[in-house]
Amino acid sequence: MAADTIETFIPPQRILMGPGPSNIHPRVLKAMSEPVIGYMDPIFVQMMAELKDLIRYVYQTDNMLSYPVSGPGSVGMENCFVNLVQPGDKVVVCVNGVFGGRMVENVLRCGATPVILEGVWGEPVDPNALEDLLKKTPEARVVAFVHGETSTGVVSDAKTLAAVAHKYDCLTIVDAVTSLAGVPVLAKEWDLDAVYSAGQKCLSCTPGLSPSTFNQRVVDYVTSRKDKIQSWFMDMTMILEYWGKTVRTYHHTAPINGLYALHEALLMLKEEGLENVWARHRSNYEALRDGLEAMGLEFLVKEENRLPQISTVKVPESVSEPQLRAELLKMSSLEIGAGLGPLAGKVWRFGLMGQTSRPDYVLTCLASMEKILPGLGYPVKEGIAVAAAHKRYAAQHAAAAEKAFA
Ligand SMILES: *Cc1c(COP(=O)(O)O)cnc(C)c1O
Repeated sequence: MAADTIETFIPPQRILMGPGPSNIHPRVLKAMSEPVIGYMDPIFVQMMAELKDLIRYVYQTDNMLSYPVSGPGSVGMENCFVNLVQPGDKVVVCVNGVFGGRMVENVLRCGATPVILEGVWGEPVDPNALEDLLKKTPEARVVAFVHGETSTGVVSDAKTLAAVAHKYDCLTIVDAVTSLAGVPVLAKEWDLDAVYSAGQKCLSCTPGLSPSTFNQRVVDYVTSRKDKIQSWFMDMTMILEYWGKTVRTYHHTAPINGLYALHEALLMLKEEGLENVWARHRSNYEALRDGLEAMGLEFLVKEENRLPQISTVKVPESVSEPQLRAELLKMSSLEIGAGLGPLAGKVWRFGLMGQTSRPDYVLTCLASMEKILPGLGYPVKEGIAVAAAHKRYAAQHAAAAEKAFA
């Protein structure tokens, strides 16, 4: 390896319209470039207190134990399982996509038995089916489900699923990695027990952080466990000493600059207001949807079950799936996502998450597709998709104006 040929790495500017990461605002990137300080520095400790408040805000909760797990969403997921699942436990896992499948893996690796509620890819988890399964599985202690399945773009009814789980005395582990900030995640009102997310989806922060929240049921359960939690790093009883108290003991070196970034990203979200953030995700989704449908493309998921932040569209028979993605990257430096698992080669996934959820990105994507698709053997009338998106934005503006004057 000729190390003397290596130069500074300068990444290209991309429009990240895939399933995450999303684009990061310059304010957040600037926060990351501020000087590193010690994780016990009183100023840092103050910042952490604010960060916990901001995490409570985005989850709409007052849970004492709300903190960013150091690690990507996958670590946030594992953190919930190792703390809430003991060897020999029975855990009901709802599987309607890739990430539910990963939860099953976590249960197995905790030495527990997964009881799988097999759902349909592209459809939400069925609360009645969950209830039937829990009736037949009285030993079940935990129910785990994915609120927003990124592999299909489906949102499940977290409130109802949690209510069913509690009726049968089960704690809930909820994956809110993609759902958080794109659609409401009301941890308190819906009574969710252990919830985790990730920095790089609708929070538009750097990857590698998993803002999570745990209610008192979780804290009580974990602190009353008699056995040793199988992961040293994720042992919540030790984390409680670091994030939970004002007198801190060293556990691990926090990802300091990443936490500055999360503080800034969540602050921006709070400045915009959660409800406005949800409305922005919906508005740009509607414009994208109208544009894609104007080109004759079909969605995988029924309208009422869709996440506005991730649209899954079927690849037309004649078209090469990877070629559209390659051409979009080349023509417009724009990334979209491919299908996972059984959907590989069959769908494209268009993400409009966090800072990426902007009209100009929607319009760039649609205009580029109008240019590219005919060359891939799929005729499109020039201008048709962009016009449909513009028409949707105009209708939204008219409706907003009418509301303002009403
Ligand atoms: C992205 C994602 C994850 C994993 O997050 P990483 O940060 O990639 O580890 C987990 N669950 C869902 C629903 C996701 O979309």
